[in-house]
Amino acid sequence: MKDMAGPTIYLSDYAPPAYLVDEVHLTFRLAPEATRVLSRVRFRPNPEATDKTFFLHGEQLTLISAAIDGQPVTPEVSDTGLTCAVPDAPFTWEAEVEIAPARNFALEGLYMSNGMYCTQCEAEGFRKITYYPDRPDVMATFTVRIEGEEPVKLSNGNPGASDEGFAEWHDPWPKPAYLFALVAGDLVNHPDRFTTASGKDVELNIWVRPGDESKCAFGMEALKKSMTWDEEVYGREYDLDIFNIVAVDDFNMGAMENKGLNIFNSSCVLASPETSTDGNFERIEAIIAHEYFHNWTGNRITCRDWFQLCLKEGLTVYRDSQFTADMRSAPVKRISDVITLRARQFREDNGPLAHNVRPESFQEINNFYTATVYEKGAEVIGMLKELVGDEAYDKALDLYFTRHDGQACTIEDWLTVFEETTGRDLSQFKRWYSQAGTPRLKVREAWEDGTYTLHFSQMTPPTPGQPEKLPQVLPIAVGLLGPNGDEVQETTLLEMTEAEQSFTFPGLAAKPVPSILRGFSAPVILERETTNAERAFLLAHDTDPFNKWEAGRMLAKDGLIRMITDGAAPDAAYLGALQATLADDSLDPAFRALVLALPSEEDLAQTLFDAGVTPDPEAIHTARERLLEAMAAELEPLLTRLYHDHQVPGAYSPDAGPSAARALANGALALLSRRDGGALAAQQYAGADNMTQQLAALTCLLIAGKGTSEVQAFYDQWQADRLVIDKWFALQIAYAAPAKAAAVTEALTQHPDFTMKNPNRFRATLGALAGNPAGFHANDGAGYRLLADWLIQLDPLNPQTTARMCSAFETWKRYDADRQDLIRAELERIAAQPGLSRDTSEMVGRILAA
Ligand SMILES: [Zn+2]
Repeated sequence: MKDMAGPTIYLSDYAPPAYLVDEVHLTFRLAPEATRVLSRVRFRPNPEATDKTFFLHGEQLTLISAAIDGQPVTPEVSDTGLTCAVPDAPFTWEAEVEIAPARNFALEGLYMSNGMYCTQCEAEGFRKITYYPDRPDVMATFTVRIEGEEPVKLSNGNPGASDEGFAEWHDPWPKPAYLFALVAGDLVNHPDRFTTASGKDVELNIWVRPGDESKCAFGMEALKKSMTWDEEVYGREYDLDIFNIVAVDDFNMGAMENKGLNIFNSSCVLASPETSTDGNFERIEAIIAHEYFHNWTGNRITCRDWFQLCLKEGLTVYRDSQFTADMRSAPVKRISDVITLRARQFREDNGPLAHNVRPESFQEINNFYTATVYEKGAEVIGMLKELVGDEAYDKALDLYFTRHDGQACTIEDWLTVFEETTGRDLSQFKRWYSQAGTPRLKVREAWEDGTYTLHFSQMTPPTPGQPEKLPQVLPIAVGLLGPNGDEVQETTLLEMTEAEQSFTFPGLAAKPVPSILRGFSAPVILERETTNAERAFLLAHDTDPFNKWEAGRMLAKDGLIRMITDGAAPDAAYLGALQATLADDSLDPAFRALVLALPSEEDLAQTLFDAGVTPDPEAIHTARERLLEAMAAELEPLLTRLYHDHQVPGAYSPDAGPSAARALANGALALLSRRDGGALAAQQYAGADNMTQQLAALTCLLIAGKGTSEVQAFYDQWQADRLVIDKWFALQIAYAAPAKAAAVTEALTQHPDFTMKNPNRFRATLGALAGNPAGFHANDGAGYRLLADWLIQLDPLNPQTTARMCSAFETWKRYDADRQDLIRAELERIAAQPGLSRDTSEMVGRILAA
């Protein structure tokens, strides 16, 4: 275990690798406590390198032997790698090392999960497998031989020779070590085939633990849809004879795009109607697509260094959003993405962990797999497409794939293909990659002699290390509505480049109502003085589904803020507008379900903080509960109708249509349960034949303060299904009364099924506590203490998950002095642990520096 903060690594220090690799041969002799890894690597000096030191990364390895061109050598070994004198000409490096996968609880490198061997190498896990230049700009072909008793032995590329005790694999596509993967175990497969556009036949497999075979069909369909979509939309075909997906229970992330051998957290691939919700199905479809799309945006074209992570992640998240929009409802996908962006990325961008989409320094790269790199990275691609147009985007992408295939690239390479295909100067646009923080966009308007003018000003608040900000390029999509609700100006894209800028719309008969930032065309916070009458008008008439939803959300938020700060009564105007929207059967039920959902407690806390008010988590919770009660009372007849009208008869299908109906019906049920004490929910629970209906009903029972016997029944029914039991843990904590949340969580950590070694279970428990804001921030500090206790226990085993979960504390400066003192004490207690990991040490340090 490494201790304390590591050295800081800077983008500006990038230097090309001293040696390049042409070929890698690896042999694994598997054994839980003592796996031997034999490597044979063909190196050649890099003519472009200035520093000629031969250094190979390596951590927690026992070196058995090493040789150069067949002659034994004795390298100089340190905690981080080795150096050795080498010829100034191509040479062959051979080494044998020993590692202990059974004792690897960090889940990075080669480790074991339920008796199965698997790997996770991104970002820097390969150095825990053998000595190697573990950096993404060193790309090579890999040939792998796996020796062991396990019936199934997989690696990247195409299969070669195999027999009972061994299997060989060859990957013809040069790749960096972070895309290496190995799996060996007692697995069963769900097979299928796919023929690519050019007629290539590809074998497809999803590999799972025996017993999970029935949960693979949906994932397989999603994979085939993704393969077709990438051919049709981006012209990208698959390039190997076989594509394997493996489900693993113990996994730090969602999934990993290793070449030809994607490894998935089992929660992100296993699906069945009985055990998965509609939300699970949609997420699984998106993650399978995401990892598959990486084959081109990430694998064939990779990142030069880890500062360029957004090059592959921003683009691939953008591509998977496009895919979901095409498979399901585009407006609903956009609204859902923005809800997530605001909840996770805006929160990060406005706190101590704010960083550029392309960071300029880090201590531990694992800490930069963030909402900013992924989600804001995707927003930047979306803005670029808006600015250049669809046709130019397609042309630029074609050039990107042609020019950079087989290369390790930078953001500069990416922007250059756009500059060359469009003739645009993107130097100002590039600030989106180098400036942290969420821009505030203020709008004023003027109306004179038939001309309507919008005056915009933009400002980005200071973020850590960046006191001054420059104006960014903002694509602002605007439409105008006439007084009768008709659109008098269809969506037009305004391109703002200055700190202040005005746009005029002449020749209008009457003062219009503006619909600004349609489709959420830029990731900014829009500030505009408006009235609730105007919001209700937009909710009723806006033709842009995003802004229609946004108007309802602003109306809800405004009323909630007044309830929180002034003790105001629930806003009758809001309830009236909500009723009219929900009753409009011409609107997609999924859209109406989103309109029905109130802003989250976290969202309200951030809004209050932005307005200079110290948020009180308890007051926010109470006000939100009061509004929910009022909605239930006021809308009861309509909710009853919506519930009954949107029951889906027949066999369960996770498709968009039935999912949308269930979303609206279950949204209605949650409110109705506040009226009938959970009677209808109990009925739904008893009759449910799928997890969506069962879990929704159980949630409603908990909201109604009931469900004790159902909670037990649910456990009894599902105790053998680890993924459903994760839901069981999370649900009880997420819906615990704030004063009891820490105690409920603590009791569940004593449950025999709780284990901190499984990241899914840990997140379902401690992560759920952090996700119950009024409970987590209860003023006795019990929530803070409990989380810190567990983070301290987890860190020596799994630094990556520990560090990531420290972000529960990232908003601490928002709160009152007492809460800040309590949180600071916990952060300092974590920081003072002897032997604290580099990951956690960096995160706590950044949060404390706020
Ligand atoms: Zn990814």
